[in-house]
Amino acid sequence: MADIIKLLPDHVANQIAAGEVVQRPASVVKELLENALDAGASVIKLIVKDGGKALIQVVDDGSGMSTTDARLSFERHATSKIQKAEDLFNLNTKGFRGEALASIAAIAHVEMQTKPESDEVGTHLKIEGSEVVSQEVTVTPKGTSMAVKNLFFNIPARRNFLKSNQVELRHITDEFHRVALAHPSVAFHFYNNGSELFNLPSDNYRKRIVNIFGSRTNEKLVPVEEETPIVKIKGFITKPEFAKKSRGEQFFFVNNRFIKSPYLHHAVVAAFEGLIKADSFPGYFLYLEVDPASIDINIHPTKTEVKFDDEHTLYAILRSTIKHSLGQFNVAPALDFDHDPNLQTPYEFKNKSVVQPKVTVDADFNPFQEIQSKGNQMTPSYNKQPAKSWESLYVGMESRMGSNDAANSISFESEAITGSIFDDEKEVQEALATTFQIRRKYIVTTIKSGMVVIDQSRAHQRVLYEKFLKNSTVKEAVSQQLLFPLQLTFTPSEINTLKEIESILVSIGFIFDNIKDESFTVTGIPLLVTESEVSMILDQLISDYQQEINGESFSQTDILSKTLAKTLAVKTGEVLDSKSQLALVNDLFACTDATLSPFNKPVYITITESDIDKKFI
Ligand code: ADP
Ligand code: MG
Repeated sequence: MADIIKLLPDHVANQIAAGEVVQRPASVVKELLENALDAGASVIKLIVKDGGKALIQVVDDGSGMSTTDARLSFERHATSKIQKAEDLFNLNTKGFRGEALASIAAIAHVEMQTKPESDEVGTHLKIEGSEVVSQEVTVTPKGTSMAVKNLFFNIPARRNFLKSNQVELRHITDEFHRVALAHPSVAFHFYNNGSELFNLPSDNYRKRIVNIFGSRTNEKLVPVEEETPIVKIKGFITKPEFAKKSRGEQFFFVNNRFIKSPYLHHAVVAAFEGLIKADSFPGYFLYLEVDPASIDINIHPTKTEVKFDDEHTLYAILRSTIKHSLGQFNVAPALDFDHDPNLQTPYEFKNKSVVQPKVTVDADFNPFQEIQSKGNQMTPSYNKQPAKSWESLYVGMESRMGSNDAANSISFESEAITGSIFDDEKEVQEALATTFQIRRKYIVTTIKSGMVVIDQSRAHQRVLYEKFLKNSTVKEAVSQQLLFPLQLTFTPSEINTLKEIESILVSIGFIFDNIKDESFTVTGIPLLVTESEVSMILDQLISDYQQEINGESFSQTDILSKTLAKTLAVKTGEVLDSKSQLALVNDLFACTDATLSPFNKPVYITITESDIDKKFI
């Protein structure tokens, strides 16, 4: 048989590797920013056009490259950062695989200008899909400028897979935040389509955080600091009262590299236990320093996970350090034992004076009287009494059932459940007369075939979701004018998101005014929303939207209606009075689709009489 194995040509190998390294424009941004940092830059400029699809350019004032290095840097496994395998265990640079530039050049049009300080002139290199198109001598300042244009020009499937410019820009911004937060001493500029998004001067950690997330952040930060032989921790946590309903600003850096760690996240959340609600998250910016040999850095280039040698100890140290900071800055409660309401004087007794207990004696009491008067009766009295109360159990039943013949003949056949589980209006009324709530979680009501158990929160979500959808499509949103407009402060990137979704928010009843870089005014809100909820709701809307939690949604309107419904719906644990229970059940079964919540979870289950019968066998 003829030999069939061939070595892949370099440009094909590079394209394959590129698939792993470059998933989207943000991956290129990360690689280029990291290269600039590795080159010792003190000022880094990031320039982006059309969400990075048209252009991603990073300009640094770092070491620059000689002409030979400039050419070599685009070869696969070409790196100046390690020479032998042992170097891996003492790594101080971001990159070391020598793959990024080769990969990027395989799938984009790349233009590089670079010059080391000592050289008179620099090199200007153009590469398109791994092919060197031109190489010239050029006059350029010290450092490197890398422009990556038309990403995925030769892989249309990948290019089509990219999301909208706004979404890609958000991914880029996230990546930029991570790098900029890890290196506050380096100055960063970030331009998008010609306008400056961030201008971050060289500063300390605190000021870097505030520069990125807005001036309001400063008052929220509580410093954290600890030094042990295993780990050095510094950074900030946000005060418990600023905990958010959604995950927002949570950053771990290990040796100045951003990482994700659900395990360490848990340690932080555990330290906040009792200080914030169970469904909210603290913000944190935590910088850990460990011996490079104690972590596994040989991780995938695009992954952000890290493997620590001794995770458990790290967890314990982190948790106690944060507890300590919370305590020191007086944000933990002054008493460390819990209030037990059972041990407290009930309010109504608080201000009453103490009265000596009195015993009242019935002077006429004759213990023999009753026996005397009933002594002749044949049947003992206790026989009659219980019979009466036993009968009285039926009294309620009779009056409830007797008034309506249809209800008298309730038949318990199992029925297929359709949109409406009630046969007619009358039956709705009938069922509603007997709703009740169990465990502050479910509403139970009877139907022809048995009973329905409704998840109160999901039911309300469905009701609100349909209301919001209707409002925004019919454009009949009603808003309530605020007597005193609310001025709200958000971060610049949150404000950008707000602008993206402004028209939909307006269509459901919000009215905004005066949108500035870090603040805006709310002058009107939807009818279903109360003033005190506005800030929380907008916070949630913006962050949900940013995180695209509803990736499969049809439209922005759909995403926002879902989020609003989720935020405003009654929650598990809330007590509903019988009127509200009735209203909720009524509204639910008036919905177009009462069976599923907006997040595709079942809203109710039915239990038929035969289901119940089976349990009694
Ligand atoms: P790695 O960063 O893993 O070494 P890259 O493909 O990202 O691999 O870069 C290859 C080499 O090119 C680097 O090792 C470095 O020597 C050089 N290089 C890349 N970008 C820059 C830059 N901005 N300034 C100076 N040198 C750079
Ligand atoms: Mg690199």
